Amino acid sequence: MSDDGVFVTEERIEGAADGPLAGQTVAVKDNISTEGVRTTCGSEMLADYVPPYDATVVERLKEAGATIVGKANMDEFGMGSTTETSAFGPTENPAAEGRVPGGSSGGSAAAVAAGEADLALGSDTGGSVRNPAAFCGVVGIKPTYGLVSRYGLVAYANSLEQIGPFGSTVEEAAELLDVVAGPDRRDATTRDEGADSDYAAAADGDVDGLEVAVPTNLVDGADEGVVETFRSALDELEDRGATYHEVELPSVEHAVEAYYVIAMSEASSNLARFDGVRYGHRADADTGEQGSSSSATQSHDGNWNEAFARTRKEGFGEEVKRRVLLGTYALSAGYHDKYYKKAQDARAWVKQDFDEALEDADVLASPTMPVPPFERGGSLDDPLQMYLADANTVPVNLADLPAISVPAGETDGLPVGIQFVGSAFDEETIVRAGSALA
Ligand code: GLN
Repeated sequence: MSDDGVFVTEERIEGAADGPLAGQTVAVKDNISTEGVRTTCGSEMLADYVPPYDATVVERLKEAGATIVGKANMDEFGMGSTTETSAFGPTENPAAEGRVPGGSSGGSAAAVAAGEADLALGSDTGGSVRNPAAFCGVVGIKPTYGLVSRYGLVAYANSLEQIGPFGSTVEEAAELLDVVAGPDRRDATTRDEGADSDYAAAADGDVDGLEVAVPTNLVDGADEGVVETFRSALDELEDRGATYHEVELPSVEHAVEAYYVIAMSEASSNLARFDGVRYGHRADADTGEQGSSSSATQSHDGNWNEAFARTRKEGFGEEVKRRVLLGTYALSAGYHDKYYKKAQDARAWVKQDFDEALEDADVLASPTMPVPPFERGGSLDDPLQMYLADANTVPVNLADLPAISVPAGETDGLPVGIQFVGSAFDEETIVRAGSALA
């Protein structure tokens, strides 16, 4: 791990000699597979895991001429908002000393903020690109579900997540999105959109005539200083010819609950593969020793359950275990309809609310995070409080829509991000709106 906690692994991977990203350096979140370079997901479970193949986005980076400079730190398996659940230690926030860089893609955002990489890739299941972008004062984009291939992304909650770019400016982040977007036959959820995109060209700062809707539900609960900074960014858009109106989205009051039920349920299923047989860490059921001996999967009495349990007890951190347990519970017979099905209904409602609001507006705008970056060290004590901080980001994943976080200014010297949400596959409009500010 690098001293500032930005990179779990510092290793250069050179791309093609030329291409649209020639000469550019990129940090890649450590849940995105890199052939021959270990990919830990911030977990002890995968501390020594070296993928035998590249994720599609990594292939595309290489073809575009980029140089990957390292694998960026993250909350374990993407579960967190501070990068403090990483098994390898925390990451400093280059824009706010003593504060967390956000998460879960905290290493990626910090790499760009610190100038250790020109660009970065993260993944956003419930805000993990936008949250650290806001906390580190950089730009981050969460693409429409299906715009970017997830092939080679280690799954946390696959129905919600997308790989997304970071940059110092909207134009730079959009250039990176142009490289990774577009259909991939190895990910059947990708679509034709994005094949010949030129999102970077949309970063022209022209918001004259742009209609912005501001969901009051995403502003009312936010910190006073955050709201002030957000409002001054809106004023700037207005000065440049945009207009805005307020809108109510009652469904978002249930988004955090719905998101966590769905995310934990999917996580409990996706993480079942880490059993010490197929991947990564393996506990020895007899001695507790780590290793790869073939006897390790069988205890002397042949108790596989015990071997699996020990492996998972040792390999997963506390937050991951909490979520696997809760997710398994939510999916279990007798509770499935009460939790999982209800959460799916709420998801449909959120989607409908956003689609309706976007009929009368080009974009929706809100603070990205309701609070400025947290102080380091405090976040692990109160998981529920952490979950609530995702109130403005998770509805967008439930609705499968694209969103961008752009620096809006500061409150008490701490970065504040403004989020623009657009219609499905209308990345151009959020890029245009954001480019008026950064
Ligand atoms: N904080 C959210 C969570 O912990 C977001 C995570 C993410 O987008 N990967 O689930």
